[in-house]
Amino acid sequence: MTAARAAALPPSEVLAGDERLGELLRAQDEDFLTLLGWDWERRVITWPRQHPVIGLPDCPVPGCPLAITVLTRPMCGGCMERWRGSSLPLEEFLLVPKAISRGVGQGPCAVGGCGRPRDSVASGLCEAHRSQRGTTDLSALTWEEFLAHPRVNGYASLGPCKVAACYLDRVGRQAPYCKAHLHRLYRARTAPGFDEALWRRTDKAICTNREVSLRGLPDRLVAELLYGLWARTQEGMKARPECLRPLYDRLRAHQVQELQEVSDPAGAGHSSEQVTMIRAWQRALRLLNMTPEAERIKDVWDMAVFGYTGHISFAPVLQEPLREAMKIWVYDDLPRRRNKNAVQHARAIIAAVGMLSESLRLQREDRGAEPAAWGRGDIVAFTNRMGYFTSTGQISPARRLAFTRFVRRVLLRFRTLGLTAKGQLLEGMPAEFAVGPEDMPDEPEDTEAGRDLPDEVMRALCAHLDGLEAMSSIEVRVATELLIDTGRRPDEIHTLPFNCLVQDPDGSDVLIYDNHKGYRLGRRLPIGAETAAVIRRQQQRVRERFPTTAPARLRLLPRPKSNPEGTKPLVDTCGKHRAWVKSLPDLLVPVVVAEGDTRVTQLVPFDKNRISPMPTGTATPSGTPMLVCPSTCSRS
Ligand SMILES: [Zn+2]
Ligand SMILES: [Zn+2]
Ligand SMILES: [Zn+2]
Repeated sequence: MTAARAAALPPSEVLAGDERLGELLRAQDEDFLTLLGWDWERRVITWPRQHPVIGLPDCPVPGCPLAITVLTRPMCGGCMERWRGSSLPLEEFLLVPKAISRGVGQGPCAVGGCGRPRDSVASGLCEAHRSQRGTTDLSALTWEEFLAHPRVNGYASLGPCKVAACYLDRVGRQAPYCKAHLHRLYRARTAPGFDEALWRRTDKAICTNREVSLRGLPDRLVAELLYGLWARTQEGMKARPECLRPLYDRLRAHQVQELQEVSDPAGAGHSSEQVTMIRAWQRALRLLNMTPEAERIKDVWDMAVFGYTGHISFAPVLQEPLREAMKIWVYDDLPRRRNKNAVQHARAIIAAVGMLSESLRLQREDRGAEPAAWGRGDIVAFTNRMGYFTSTGQISPARRLAFTRFVRRVLLRFRTLGLTAKGQLLEGMPAEFAVGPEDMPDEPEDTEAGRDLPDEVMRALCAHLDGLEAMSSIEVRVATELLIDTGRRPDEIHTLPFNCLVQDPDGSDVLIYDNHKGYRLGRRLPIGAETAAVIRRQQQRVRERFPTTAPARLRLLPRPKSNPEGTKPLVDTCGKHRAWVKSLPDLLVPVVVAEGDTRVTQLVPFDKNRISPMPTGTATPSGTPMLVCPSTCSRS
């Protein structure tokens, strides 16, 4: 054990019986604690002057003891204020020494060997020596004569201030507090029902320069806060004493025992910067000692362990062997997915297998509990069920195709993963329990957005395009019109070049677009005259807005903001679409229902959640039907 480690660890008796505390202490970075000047006895963080992330330089004003805590400013907050009140240019102001400094923290009494803090910067003496200097026989002495006088001797320290958070010394014999806390006590004790013992435990630390007190907080919480600060610093995130000081004070005031208790930081009064901080710490603490190996056996995975965000739940898969096999499948599949959609993809596949699972539960006597009993009949039942959902509009043809593909792939992979072998999870799963080519539904003609929406809904959407334009921009409106007219994917429409319209020899209009998903560039799509007119009008607008940019560099749908040359395409318009659809009145669609023996047509509101012009790779665990193709996962 190194000396630094010995100094960094609290006395071993603190450790007894708290395993998590031990875990947290072992996780501490000793160099980081040294950087903070940490000592488990004193429990005060001192912000370093030099550190690429959390370093705070000294204020350059001569005689100013403070640090620059807002790094974009040339001076400390106080000097900035003085400078604004002065008429000096910055360079000159920086040369003028700060005349009066109240000082920071506590300074020692000037009498040699005196262990008490000075009363004020002006007097330079502790309370006792100040009153001694005021006595008649010594009052005539000069400062130097007084300090050298044989009757002027140092006094022993009175000990630390009794406020838990405070690291200053008490100043007088009567009250066991530092000067600042004495003042605070006078004010606080006028409150009805004042409890001095509670006040001692929970009052805040006295604000100083680089120092932030973690005193008066439980050991476990202190260890959590130190670890959180380290983890955040590792991520390159700055942390200012002005943010952390009140945060720590609030934790103390609320007598928080561990960070996990702070479930609603904003509600507890923390600022947005502090909320971000607390959330990040909680995340880092959750991840501490969490491993993919430990996580993979749970039914809900915290994907942070795997380097993603969000959670995935295996709850839709009802039969235990199938659910456990799915976990192995996803665990095996994750490293192959290098993009951000890995989590969505896993969710979609779990939803697909969830539908197979539900089918097994409904169709089989044993509710599908026994893999060896699964058979061809169950596959037929599953594909029929998917067909039924498609015919009733609960899932789109594209989703049916995607889900059937997912299930085929997963069942095949179960074999190559060895899960069907003897003694394994799916032991005895028969070879006929597989989705064959003959089970695959037909490829939908075009699987793009809009195609699956009922005509009534489509008409209503088209009638409200003015509203969309008012809520967003003309570009979003034009993009939506083109999406509806062409049935292409949003990214294909958003990235259209300015010159995307050509004419065939017969004079008909053709849209040239890139199919990014299929890596097929320069695809040709014949379009109607009305759609072509929409494009021409948009070209005219773009030309007028960006007259100097070469047309080859321009976009048909330039992003409205931060786009000085019109070369950046429109990005994700999902949020604007959602807001627009939400703002629309109920969209009524006719539905045929049976009333006794007769069938009648009723108008019912269409579920607006089914309207999404954007591809949504997300499949909700319950397999919420969506009329729009999840194009991010439809071709697997
Ligand atoms: Zn300053
Ligand atoms: Zn003294
Ligand atoms: Zn104090």
